[in-house]
Amino acid sequence: MTANQKEYDVVIIGAGPAGSLAATMLAQRGVNVLVIEKSGFPRFVIGESLLPQSMVYLEKAGILGAVENANFQRKNGANFSDDSRYSSINFGDKFTEGWSTTYQVQREKFDSLLAKEAEKAGAEIWFENTVLDVQFDNTGVAITGRGQEGEYLLRCRFVVDASGYGRVLPRLLNLSVPSTFPVRHALFTHIDDTLDQQDFDREKILITVHPQYSDIWFWLIPFSKGVSSVGVVCSTEHMGRYEGSSSDKLWALIAETSQLSELLTGAKERRLVSELSGYSSNVSKMCSPQFALLGNAGEFLDPVFSSGVTIALKSADLLVDPLMRQLSGEKVDWEEDFAAPLKVGVDCFRAFVEAWYEGELQTILFNPPSYDNPIKKMIVSILAGYAWDEKNPFVKQGKRYIDLLAAQCA
Ligand code: FAD
Repeated sequence: MTANQKEYDVVIIGAGPAGSLAATMLAQRGVNVLVIEKSGFPRFVIGESLLPQSMVYLEKAGILGAVENANFQRKNGANFSDDSRYSSINFGDKFTEGWSTTYQVQREKFDSLLAKEAEKAGAEIWFENTVLDVQFDNTGVAITGRGQEGEYLLRCRFVVDASGYGRVLPRLLNLSVPSTFPVRHALFTHIDDTLDQQDFDREKILITVHPQYSDIWFWLIPFSKGVSSVGVVCSTEHMGRYEGSSSDKLWALIAETSQLSELLTGAKERRLVSELSGYSSNVSKMCSPQFALLGNAGEFLDPVFSSGVTIALKSADLLVDPLMRQLSGEKVDWEEDFAAPLKVGVDCFRAFVEAWYEGELQTILFNPPSYDNPIKKMIVSILAGYAWDEKNPFVKQGKRYIDLLAAQCA
């Protein structure tokens, strides 16, 4: 093993949206940052439909222009269908002020773009390098990594775990706790679609609820240029009923819907169907004076409201102020200044995800209060990602208000 003489202020594990945004914002403030990324970029990862709230963090970091110039598919809302009912949400009809539009992005392109912006800001990124071990002592943090030339050891003052599903620190420090959500399974691929020959709004994600099982749902996320992402989420137990390849299972499930299967007539797979299960996760501790967990390396709830990348970017944004204060010698209360503010929005999304699977939110979305009703605007705000706006009563009282509203809407 070789010892790398250079000592970094901050080492970030992973160059997904959380890691790259944190690297950009820290490097812009003069921090000496190294990002260690396991894959070679571009690399595929799922999580393609952004929420308008995420634009705030891209704008704050000065990289929104680069994203806007990349010709991603614009997104302005969400449509919901269960074959017999249909509902449409426009993010413009929201309670919280701010962005009403965002993008649907191929993550290989989006994540490469964010990583390039981090490098432009002055962060170093070592691609195809894997963090194997992290040790803490009184003088800092020792990181063991592995690259093409073998293993090495380097030191830093603070380590940020943005390793997504890699969950490096939760594994090494035994921080993982089971998610409160049951184990679910996702199947997904990219397709050449035929949506432009049909009456279909490419500017909205389509969420289709299975006509018989309300806990099974499908996404259709159009990108630009006739390509879409399509996927399904269902319980592992239900998935066990289907035979054949991943592709056979995905298309068998789609065939059980009428509207979605009609929309996808003539679609052709562009990549092999992927499977992912047991992705929901939680941790007992998000931070300490020597580490912080960002994005999926901390808690991941569920994909249904496309909140993952927004939470990843929010966590990166929240990291910067306390970390800058600590690096300049101030004592920081990490629980109060980082974990607690992040939790406000995560808990709000959790209440919405629970209400989706328990049925109340589907009742509200398919029987919505009228458009000028301020309550509908509050719900639209959360679906647009504004889950940290405490002026919106659904942020802190989500479950209670959803239950009350669902009873009225029913
Ligand atoms: P990631 O994007 O996962 O990046 C982590 C990086 O760390 C990776 O590049 C990885 O290679 C690297 N890494 C891992 N281990 C190591 C290591 N040991 N050393 C070095 N590097 C390492 N979110 C949305 O916002 N919209 C959606 O539509 C959406 N759909 C989803 C659908 C499904 C089925 C699932 C499961 C999730 C979905 N998500 C969605 C969530 C989204 O995938 C994640 O929340 C998001 O990618 C988290 O970003 P991140 O930066 O935390 O991690």
